Amino acid sequence: MASSITENLQQVWRELPEGVRLVAISKFHPGEAILEAYTAGQRIFGESKVQEMTRKYELLPKDIEWHFIGHLQTNKVKYIAPYVSLIHSIDSMHLLAEVNKQAAKAGRVIDCLLQVHIAQEETKFGFTPDECRALLSGGQWRQLPSVRLCGLMGMATNTDDLYQVQREFDSLHALLKEAQATWMQDAPWFRELSMGMSHDYHQAIRAGSTLVRIGTSIFGERDYYARS
Ligand SMILES: *Cc1c(COP(=O)(O)O)cnc(C)c1O
Repeated sequence: MASSITENLQQVWRELPEGVRLVAISKFHPGEAILEAYTAGQRIFGESKVQEMTRKYELLPKDIEWHFIGHLQTNKVKYIAPYVSLIHSIDSMHLLAEVNKQAAKAGRVIDCLLQVHIAQEETKFGFTPDECRALLSGGQWRQLPSVRLCGLMGMATNTDDLYQVQREFDSLHALLKEAQATWMQDAPWFRELSMGMSHDYHQAIRAGSTLVRIGTSIFGERDYYARS
Protein backbone atom coordinates (compact mmCIF):
# COMPACT_ATOMS: atom_id res chain seq x y z
CA MET A 1 0.00 0.00 0.00
CA ALA A 2 1.47 3.37 -1.02
CA SER A 3 1.85 5.90 1.77
CA SER A 4 0.20 9.30 1.73
CA ILE A 5 1.76 12.60 0.73
CA THR A 6 1.65 13.65 4.38
CA GLU A 7 3.47 10.50 5.52
CA ASN A 8 6.06 10.87 2.78
CA LEU A 9 6.67 14.48 3.76
CA GLN A 10 7.07 13.63 7.41
CA GLN A 11 9.57 10.95 6.47
CA VAL A 12 11.65 13.44 4.43
CA TRP A 13 11.45 16.12 7.14
CA ARG A 14 12.79 13.65 9.69
CA GLU A 15 15.85 13.09 7.52
CA LEU A 16 16.73 16.74 6.96
CA PRO A 17 19.39 18.15 9.25
CA GLU A 18 19.04 21.66 10.65
CA GLY A 19 19.74 24.26 7.99
CA VAL A 20 18.58 22.17 5.04
CA ARG A 21 15.30 23.34 3.49
CA LEU A 22 12.95 21.18 1.47
CA VAL A 23 11.66 22.36 -1.88
CA ALA A 24 8.73 20.05 -2.63
CA ILE A 25 8.79 19.59 -6.40
CA SER A 26 5.14 19.55 -7.44
CA LYS A 27 5.49 19.75 -11.24
CA PHE A 28 2.86 17.68 -13.09
CA HIS A 29 0.93 17.14 -9.85
CA PRO A 30 -2.47 18.76 -9.33
CA GLY A 31 -3.36 21.53 -6.92
CA GLU A 32 -5.02 19.03 -4.54
CA ALA A 33 -1.70 17.24 -4.02
CA ILE A 34 -0.01 20.55 -3.22
CA LEU A 35 -2.82 21.45 -0.82
CA GLU A 36 -2.36 18.18 1.04
CA ALA A 37 1.35 18.95 1.48
CA TYR A 38 0.49 22.54 2.43
CA THR A 39 -1.97 21.37 5.06
CA ALA A 40 0.72 19.11 6.49
CA GLY A 41 2.90 22.20 6.87
CA GLN A 42 5.05 22.40 3.72
CA ARG A 43 5.41 25.96 2.37
CA ILE A 44 8.11 25.82 -0.34
CA PHE A 45 7.14 24.31 -3.69
CA GLY A 46 9.14 24.02 -6.89
CA GLU A 47 7.92 24.00 -10.48
CA SER A 48 9.65 23.72 -13.84
CA LYS A 49 7.15 25.34 -16.22
CA VAL A 50 6.12 28.99 -16.19
CA GLN A 51 2.47 28.54 -17.13
CA GLU A 52 1.91 25.68 -14.72
CA MET A 53 3.54 27.51 -11.81
CA THR A 54 1.61 30.71 -12.49
CA ARG A 55 -1.70 28.86 -12.64
CA LYS A 56 -0.95 27.16 -9.33
CA TYR A 57 0.22 30.41 -7.77
CA GLU A 58 -3.10 32.03 -8.65
CA LEU A 59 -5.10 29.10 -7.32
CA LEU A 60 -3.32 28.25 -4.08
CA PRO A 61 -2.67 29.94 -0.70
CA LYS A 62 -0.63 33.13 -0.98
CA ASP A 63 1.90 32.25 1.71
CA ILE A 64 3.41 29.54 -0.49
CA GLU A 65 6.98 30.26 -1.61
CA TRP A 66 7.27 29.36 -5.29
CA HIS A 67 10.69 28.28 -6.55
CA PHE A 68 11.40 27.97 -10.26
CA ILE A 69 13.70 25.05 -11.07
CA GLY A 70 13.36 24.47 -14.84
CA HIS A 71 14.93 25.95 -17.93
CA LEU A 72 13.65 29.53 -18.06
CA GLN A 73 13.13 31.32 -21.38
CA THR A 74 13.81 35.05 -21.24
CA ASN A 75 10.47 35.93 -22.85
CA LYS A 76 8.62 34.22 -19.97
CA VAL A 77 10.40 35.83 -17.03
CA LYS A 78 7.78 38.58 -16.87
CA TYR A 79 5.07 36.13 -15.87
CA ILE A 80 6.82 34.90 -12.73
CA ALA A 81 8.67 38.09 -11.72
CA PRO A 82 5.78 39.45 -9.62
CA TYR A 83 5.74 36.50 -7.24
CA VAL A 84 8.60 33.98 -7.60
CA SER A 85 10.69 33.52 -4.43
CA LEU A 86 13.82 31.93 -5.84
CA ILE A 87 14.96 31.06 -9.35
CA HIS A 88 17.31 28.07 -9.13
CA SER A 89 18.12 27.85 -12.82
CA ILE A 90 19.94 30.96 -14.06
CA ASP A 91 22.05 29.61 -16.94
CA SER A 92 23.15 32.75 -18.80
CA MET A 93 24.09 36.37 -18.13
CA HIS A 94 21.37 37.32 -20.60
CA LEU A 95 18.74 35.56 -18.49
CA LEU A 96 20.03 37.16 -15.29
CA ALA A 97 19.79 40.60 -16.92
CA GLU A 98 16.21 39.92 -17.98
CA VAL A 99 15.27 38.80 -14.45
CA ASN A 100 16.78 42.05 -13.18
CA LYS A 101 14.71 44.07 -15.65
CA GLN A 102 11.43 42.32 -14.84
CA ALA A 103 12.11 42.38 -11.09
CA ALA A 104 12.63 46.15 -11.27
CA LYS A 105 9.35 46.53 -13.16
CA ALA A 106 7.60 44.52 -10.46
CA GLY A 107 9.27 46.59 -7.73
CA ARG A 108 11.07 43.57 -6.30
CA VAL A 109 14.51 42.08 -5.77
CA ILE A 110 14.55 38.46 -6.93
CA ASP A 111 16.83 35.86 -5.38
CA CYS A 112 18.65 33.71 -7.94
CA LEU A 113 21.01 30.75 -8.07
CA LEU A 114 23.47 30.02 -10.85
CA GLN A 115 22.92 26.57 -12.33
CA VAL A 116 26.23 24.78 -12.76
CA HIS A 117 26.74 21.75 -14.96
CA ILE A 118 28.41 19.13 -12.76
CA ALA A 119 27.08 15.93 -14.35
CA GLN A 120 28.63 13.89 -17.11
CA GLU A 121 25.38 13.85 -19.03
CA GLU A 122 25.20 16.12 -22.06
CA THR A 123 21.64 17.35 -21.89
CA LYS A 124 21.63 19.33 -18.69
CA PHE A 125 21.57 23.13 -18.82
CA GLY A 126 23.92 25.28 -16.85
CA PHE A 127 27.29 26.99 -16.73
CA THR A 128 30.47 24.96 -16.69
CA PRO A 129 32.44 25.69 -13.50
CA ASP A 130 34.79 27.90 -15.55
CA GLU A 131 31.92 29.84 -17.10
CA CYS A 132 30.53 30.33 -13.60
CA ARG A 133 33.90 31.67 -12.40
CA ALA A 134 34.07 33.99 -15.42
CA LEU A 135 30.60 35.36 -14.73
CA LEU A 136 31.33 36.02 -11.07
CA SER A 137 34.76 37.55 -11.67
CA GLY A 138 33.44 39.64 -14.57
CA GLY A 139 31.35 41.58 -12.09
CA GLN A 140 28.62 42.67 -14.55
CA TRP A 141 26.12 41.19 -12.13
CA ARG A 142 27.03 43.92 -9.66
CA GLN A 143 25.23 46.31 -11.99
CA LEU A 144 21.95 44.46 -11.54
CA PRO A 145 20.35 45.85 -8.36
CA SER A 146 17.09 43.91 -8.69
CA VAL A 147 18.60 40.44 -8.53
CA ARG A 148 20.48 38.94 -5.62
CA LEU A 149 22.83 36.03 -6.28
CA CYS A 150 22.32 33.60 -3.40
CA GLY A 151 24.35 30.56 -4.43
CA LEU A 152 24.62 27.63 -6.81
CA MET A 153 22.41 24.83 -8.10
CA GLY A 154 23.44 21.55 -9.68
CA MET A 155 22.28 18.10 -10.71
CA ALA A 156 24.45 15.02 -10.41
CA THR A 157 24.70 12.33 -13.05
CA ASN A 158 21.82 9.87 -12.89
CA THR A 159 23.92 6.81 -12.00
CA ASP A 160 24.07 4.08 -9.37
CA ASP A 161 27.73 4.97 -8.82
CA LEU A 162 27.30 6.78 -5.51
CA TYR A 163 30.98 7.73 -5.41
CA GLN A 164 30.60 9.62 -8.65
CA VAL A 165 27.45 11.35 -7.39
CA GLN A 166 29.24 12.28 -4.17
CA ARG A 167 32.24 13.65 -6.11
CA GLU A 168 30.00 15.80 -8.29
CA PHE A 169 28.16 17.26 -5.30
CA ASP A 170 31.48 17.82 -3.50
CA SER A 171 32.75 19.71 -6.54
CA LEU A 172 29.77 22.10 -6.41
CA HIS A 173 30.37 22.67 -2.71
CA ALA A 174 34.03 23.44 -3.45
CA LEU A 175 32.99 25.92 -6.15
CA LEU A 176 30.65 27.67 -3.69
CA LYS A 177 33.50 27.98 -1.17
CA GLU A 178 35.85 29.29 -3.84
CA ALA A 179 33.28 31.87 -4.97
CA GLN A 180 32.60 32.97 -1.40
CA ALA A 181 36.29 33.49 -0.76
CA THR A 182 37.11 35.12 -4.09
CA TRP A 183 34.24 37.19 -5.49
CA MET A 184 31.43 37.16 -2.93
CA GLN A 185 33.15 38.28 0.26
CA ASP A 186 30.77 41.22 0.56
CA ALA A 187 27.70 39.03 -0.13
CA PRO A 188 27.01 36.90 2.96
CA TRP A 189 23.73 35.74 1.43
CA PHE A 190 25.70 33.85 -1.25
CA ARG A 191 25.46 30.61 0.74
CA GLU A 192 22.79 28.40 -0.83
CA LEU A 193 23.61 25.08 -2.43
CA SER A 194 20.59 23.65 -4.22
CA MET A 195 21.36 19.99 -4.80
CA GLY A 196 19.76 16.62 -4.18
CA MET A 197 16.66 14.97 -5.70
CA SER A 198 14.64 11.94 -4.61
CA HIS A 199 17.31 9.41 -5.53
CA ASP A 200 20.39 11.27 -4.34
CA TYR A 201 19.48 13.75 -1.60
CA HIS A 202 21.35 11.83 1.09
CA GLN A 203 24.61 12.27 -0.84
CA ALA A 204 23.75 15.94 -1.45
CA ILE A 205 23.17 16.60 2.24
CA ARG A 206 26.49 14.98 3.04
CA ALA A 207 28.11 17.39 0.60
CA GLY A 208 26.58 20.46 2.23
CA SER A 209 23.28 20.99 0.41
CA THR A 210 21.06 23.72 1.89
CA LEU A 211 18.09 23.18 -0.46
CA VAL A 212 16.98 19.71 -1.52
CA ARG A 213 14.52 19.47 -4.43
CA ILE A 214 12.37 16.40 -3.87
CA GLY A 215 9.38 15.41 -5.96
CA THR A 216 8.81 11.69 -6.50
CA SER A 217 9.53 10.63 -2.90
CA ILE A 218 6.75 12.96 -1.74
CA PHE A 219 4.12 12.99 -4.49
CA GLY A 220 4.82 9.66 -6.24
CA GLU A 221 5.56 9.16 -9.92
CA ARG A 222 4.64 11.97 -12.28
CA ASP A 223 2.05 11.31 -14.97
CA TYR A 224 3.42 13.25 -17.92
CA TYR A 225 0.33 12.55 -20.00
CA ALA A 226 -2.28 13.86 -17.60
CA ARG A 227 -3.44 17.44 -17.93
CA SER A 228 -2.17 19.22 -14.86
C1 LIG B 1 11.91 17.21 -11.42
C2 LIG B 1 13.09 17.83 -10.76
C3 LIG B 1 13.45 17.48 -9.44
C4 LIG B 1 12.71 16.46 -8.61
O1 LIG B 1 13.03 15.17 -9.04
P1 LIG B 1 12.51 13.86 -8.24
O2 LIG B 1 13.37 12.78 -8.78
O3 LIG B 1 11.08 13.70 -8.57
O4 LIG B 1 12.73 14.12 -6.79
C5 LIG B 1 14.53 18.14 -8.88
N1 LIG B 1 15.24 19.07 -9.56
C6 LIG B 1 14.94 19.40 -10.83
C7 LIG B 1 15.77 20.43 -11.51
C8 LIG B 1 13.86 18.79 -11.47
O5 LIG B 1 13.59 19.14 -12.74
